[in-house]
Amino acid sequence: MQGKNGLKEVLDRLDTRQLDEDVHLIIGNNLGTFPYSNSLLILDEEVVLIDAGAGEEILHPLKDHVDILINSHYHIDHILGNHLFGKLWVVEEEAGVTSSFDSYKRFAGIHDTTIEYEWLSWFHEHFSFHVSSPTRTFSHTELFRFGTTQWQAVHTPGHSPGHCCFYEPERRLMFSSDLDLTAFGPWYGNPNADLNDFIESIKMLSEFEIDVIATSHMMPIRDNVQQALEEYLSIIFEREERILGLLEKEMTLQALEAENIIYKKEQKRYKAFAWFEQKMIEKHLAQLMESGKVEQVGNRFKAL
Ligand SMILES: [Zn+2]
Repeated sequence: MQGKNGLKEVLDRLDTRQLDEDVHLIIGNNLGTFPYSNSLLILDEEVVLIDAGAGEEILHPLKDHVDILINSHYHIDHILGNHLFGKLWVVEEEAGVTSSFDSYKRFAGIHDTTIEYEWLSWFHEHFSFHVSSPTRTFSHTELFRFGTTQWQAVHTPGHSPGHCCFYEPERRLMFSSDLDLTAFGPWYGNPNADLNDFIESIKMLSEFEIDVIATSHMMPIRDNVQQALEEYLSIIFEREERILGLLEKEMTLQALEAENIIYKKEQKRYKAFAWFEQKMIEKHLAQLMESGKVEQVGNRFKAL
C-alpha cells in the first residue's frame, strides 16, 4: 500500500475539485452523472475514499493509495468499483447487500416483480456487477477519526434505508451523496425508499453549518448552500402539486405515470424507469391519501 506517496501525481491526472487542504472530490465519468458518481477522497493519516462509482479507469490509479473505502449506500452507481479496494466499510442497515447479485436484487425490491426482466436488461446494458463484502460495518451515528479529521456519519434515509452523508465539523464540509441537489430532484423509486424520510433528511441537512457541500452527481456548491437545499426539497412539493392538479379528474396510477412527472418521456424508453416513476408516484399518493387530500375509488385516484 503506497498511501499518500505518489498520490499527488495521480490526482494531477484526474478531474478533481479541492474542497479543503486534504479533501478532494473525484469527479466521475460524464461529470459524475448517472450511471457514474463522484467520490470523496480524504488524505489523512489514513487515505479514505467514499464511494466507488466514478469509473474503473479513474479509480484504478487510486487503488494502491486508498486504505479504506466507505460506501454511502448500496446503489450500483456508488459501488461498482468496490472490488478494487481491500478494506470496505458499509453501514449496518445495508451490510451484505452487495455480497451477491441476488441479495442486491432482493434488497432493491426488484426480485420477483413484473419489472424484473426489463430491469435486468437495463442493468446489464449499463453495469458489470462485481460482488463485494464489507470488511467492517459501521453504525449510522459513527464518528470516524482518520487522523486529524473527524467525519460524522449523518443518517439520511429516504433514498435508501441506510443512506449516509458525511460531515466534517471543523472544515464545515458535507458530502451529501445522493441527496445530490441536482435539478432532477430527489429519487425514491425503489420499494425500500421512503418519501417522508427523504423530506426529513433534507430538512435535517439544512440544520448543519455547511461552507461547502459536495454531492455524488454534480460539482461542489460553495455559495447559497441553504438555498440549494430548499430548492431541492421544493421539487418534492412541486411533484405533489402536479399530482394534485392532475387528480382534479379521476386517474389511474398508470395514467399519472404517463404524464412524465418525474422522468422525461425519452428516458422511459427503459420500462424500468416507468416502473421507478410509478413507485415514486405511489409514495406521493399514499402520503396524499393519509393527509385526506386524495381518495382512491377502485383503481382510480381523485383529489378531494
Ligand atoms: Zn443512490
